[in-house]
Amino acid sequence: MSLLSVLTLDENELVACVACGLCLPHCPTYRVTGLEAASPRGRIAAMQAVQFGDAPLDATFERYMEECVQCRGCEAACPSSVPFGHLMEGARGVLHEQRRSERRWRRRLAEWLGYRLVLPRHRLLLALTWLLLVAQRLHLVPRRLGLPRLSVRSLARRLRVPAGDAPDAYLFTGCVMDAWQRDTHRAAIRVMAATGARPGLPRGGADCCGALHVHAGREEEARRLARRVIAALPGTAPVVVDSAGCAAAMKDYGRLLDTDEARTFATRVRDFSEWLARQPPPAVRADGGRVVVQDPCHLRHVQHADGAVREVLGRAYELAETDDDGLCCGAGGAYNALQPALATQIRDRKVEAIRRAAGDGRPRVASANPGCAMHLAAAGLDVRHPADLLAEALE
Ligand code: SF4
Ligand code: SF4
Repeated sequence: MSLLSVLTLDENELVACVACGLCLPHCPTYRVTGLEAASPRGRIAAMQAVQFGDAPLDATFERYMEECVQCRGCEAACPSSVPFGHLMEGARGVLHEQRRSERRWRRRLAEWLGYRLVLPRHRLLLALTWLLLVAQRLHLVPRRLGLPRLSVRSLARRLRVPAGDAPDAYLFTGCVMDAWQRDTHRAAIRVMAATGARPGLPRGGADCCGALHVHAGREEEARRLARRVIAALPGTAPVVVDSAGCAAAMKDYGRLLDTDEARTFATRVRDFSEWLARQPPPAVRADGGRVVVQDPCHLRHVQHADGAVREVLGRAYELAETDDDGLCCGAGGAYNALQPALATQIRDRKVEAIRRAAGDGRPRVASANPGCAMHLAAAGLDVRHPADLLAEALE
């Protein structure tokens, strides 16, 4: 073990945990395993043992950290305001630097392809999406992956916004969502226009917000992507984001880049529903039927915009609530690919909660995050983005 194999987390943040355990019921991995090592308190203790003691930064420590979904349910529940998300991102950053070479070559290749090659190059992602579409038509893509059914019509058409000078609000289009769920962007643009606002699109360069990179501890790459996003969205207009994970990351650009420009940019970022709730309400039919609301963790625990989703959806739908206090669904960015067994166990609980909330029949679920939507759809649920639901309900 190298002498450099130590954690360098913020000591004040690390000692803020008083080990009270009040966060444990809010932790999805603790709920499904019952193991202290899979709880927020256990993970913080492991970080403390490496940083302050002589515990090694080894494969066991890496596993404890990687089993965390980074949902931040613990952070929202913590009476001592322990910034768990920041601690975990720091631990992942050190693991990325110091343990990357120990990982299997297949994982290193997949990470290089995903984080370095494809996500920062939107045209390449779109080209690969066409190949994926062909594979889907040939029934080569398993349904359990939960990929939305890709559409030639949607992929072949660019997003369109009204012509004009400065927009009233931008819609951030991002990476995977623009490739796989572009119709949701179209729905968001329709709803934005129905408020009387003129929506605009980013200039070239806003290929990816870097949220997945931050989660994986690849902060330098995330910083490069964040600078490009900021440059592609000039002016002072709000930046509306219809992916909860992306919006949460973009609201944190001030901390990530530590510049005044980034801090100013972050104040312009709004989740789609958060922005919509403050606009003149578009005319909608109020008979859309029953919808179960699923709170993506980065919408509820990080952005605290879960109330806005209910406010805008409630104008057109009868809303049903789950009884699990907003527990994570297990999607967690790339978590369901890296930890499939835990992700499935966590999802099973969420699916049960959704079915209880729905009562009879096949539930329709509203989810404001594309990762959660795909993860839940892979379990057979009918999951829609609030923008899709509202666009359907427009007069
Ligand atoms: S993270 Fe907060 S809630 Fe959890 S054990 Fe530590 S102090 Fe208690
Ligand atoms: S971020 Fe989520 S999964 Fe990780 S320790 Fe906190 S509650 Fe558990």
